[in-house]
Amino acid sequence: MTARILLLGGTGDALAIARTLGPQHVYSLAGLGRVPADLTCAVRVGGFGGAEGLARFLADEDIALVFDATHPYAAQISANAARACVAAHVPYWALRRAPWQPQPGDDWRMVSGWAGVVEALAPFARPLFTLGREPLAHLNEVPQRQHWTVRCLEAHPGHARARIIDARGPFTAEGERALFIEAHIDVVVSKNSGGAATEAKLAVARELGLPVVMMQRPPLPDAQREFTSAQEAIDTLANYNQRSFHA
Ligand code: NAP
Repeated sequence: MTARILLLGGTGDALAIARTLGPQHVYSLAGLGRVPADLTCAVRVGGFGGAEGLARFLADEDIALVFDATHPYAAQISANAARACVAAHVPYWALRRAPWQPQPGDDWRMVSGWAGVVEALAPFARPLFTLGREPLAHLNEVPQRQHWTVRCLEAHPGHARARIIDARGPFTAEGERALFIEAHIDVVVSKNSGGAATEAKLAVARELGLPVVMMQRPPLPDAQREFTSAQEAIDTLANYNQRSFHA
């Protein structure tokens, strides 16, 4: 009997792990972004129907381990996965990417939630939003004195005071510097995602003396095993498989 892993994804780290999984394992995506067509493991797309639906999936598909490599701000699926694993008596492991830490010279303004972002942006005129698609739901609320630049994974026409840039990381310091200067950015809005792919904006904000409005991370459930890098997870899952297969 093979030990079947359910990998919860939607991040670059998760994709790196998925690329190392054999055909008996399942990689799960919410369905908001690109679905890779070149993986050896099975790929499923779409929600499970809450923690109860996920617990049923674990039993029906005979899953032996859930590995949560979702984004640190995808708190709902992580909470559901932890609950479903308890209900289905399946171990819950997770990749918990370390958050970025402010460096000397940084001016970070910590906020929680969209209302906190709006309040922190009041003194500024040209924010760059780099926290996903949430600003798209608020394009009719751009204050008169502001112009928004919103970078997210969605094509959108924007309007006279909101420009939408549909771009996927990784981003370089040169590219970020050019964008900040060309768009006259005076404040950067970010999630504390951690990792290298989108970190350059913080170094460029520091260099140009720009403040960063940083959304606080949501609380996430404890996992039985936690990993801080995709490589650490890949190495451990490879051994986990060997042990299971040879047991
Ligand atoms: P979320 O709020 O935690 O989850 C909302 C619902 O989406 C979940 O309850 C679940 O539906 C479904 N879902 C989420 N991830 C799933 C997965 N890997 N496989 C199957 N269903 C999933 O999630 P989110 O913040 O909207 O993020 C959605 C996806 O985008 C995640 O996979 C995440 O890794 C990725 N992502 C998120 C961010 C971010 O900033 N939030 C950034 C980059 C990538 P059911 O309850 O029906 O099961």
